[in-house]
Amino acid sequence: MPRTRIRWRVAGFVAVLAASTTACVVPAAPEFTALPDQEQVQREQLVLHTDFRLPRHHRLVEELIALRHDVSERLEVPLSDEPIHVYLFEDADRFHGFVSRHHEQLPERRAFFVESDTQLVVYAHWGDRVAEDLRHELTHGYLHSVVPHLPLWLDEGLAEYHELPRGRKGLHLPHITALSDRYAKYLWKPGLDRLQRFTDVRDMRQIDYAESWLFAHWLMESSPQRSALLRNYLARLRMTGECPPFSRYLAEAEPNYEQELLAHLESLRREVELNDNEFGSRAPPVGVRNPLALPGATPCMSRFDRSGWDSSPPKRAFPSDTDRHV
Ligand SMILES: [Zn+2]
Repeated sequence: MPRTRIRWRVAGFVAVLAASTTACVVPAAPEFTALPDQEQVQREQLVLHTDFRLPRHHRLVEELIALRHDVSERLEVPLSDEPIHVYLFEDADRFHGFVSRHHEQLPERRAFFVESDTQLVVYAHWGDRVAEDLRHELTHGYLHSVVPHLPLWLDEGLAEYHELPRGRKGLHLPHITALSDRYAKYLWKPGLDRLQRFTDVRDMRQIDYAESWLFAHWLMESSPQRSALLRNYLARLRMTGECPPFSRYLAEAEPNYEQELLAHLESLRREVELNDNEFGSRAPPVGVRNPLALPGATPCMSRFDRSGWDSSPPKRAFPSDTDRHV
């Protein structure tokens, strides 16, 4: 039975939910819901389909090609020649029209990645954040084309890391702020065992994306030994196709990894504070918790979009599950 695995951008969740409760259901015109395919640009592994002219050497395309080599070199995974089809809609209306018609079980997102037994496909639309979206989704694509059974938390953590422009070393400011704030208020602490239990991306809240990013950033940036640990784990996945818990490897090499991870978060917070006083004033030091917050307070159950935290309880936006999500 064909399998379909889907990843998507988490941003815009709250706004879309609000919109979906008031929107009229009007059958979309076929042309409005068709895939863009008037133009094609093929570069290495990428096949970009558009209804507008995209220069073959557009700087965004160049960056996405560079990302392919960055992922391969940093993680020591081979380059695949399996095509990744990128359907790039010219605006959000066309994109959402297609998604509502052909992937109606999904929430509206800015972009998503679909892996089936026969194809790797990214759907996205041209907009202010198209570069970020494509870097995120194509990281999934590049990894899935060579690494089987990548654990969900690590898949999303690496995609969040690589969605930043080249040269930023994966420094994700909203995640640093969110994690620091919540740690200070006893609303979050590291929990790799909990992250490893996720098998469905619909269950992941934004704080889980942020924590997954933090683990990925710590592994990628804090020491050569940790980078090697990550690369060895990916190599084992490639060789055996098995997915043993990453925590087993980590605990052997780093018995106090949670404290080390928190120290890494604090070093990032200070680094950002040095460069941005406004940001620094928002993020309390990691380890200096709010004395007014009660230990053992109810953990955060809020969702996050990239403009800030929302305190509403998590909503299961996708009750149907006709596709398999991992
Ligand atoms: Zn993702």
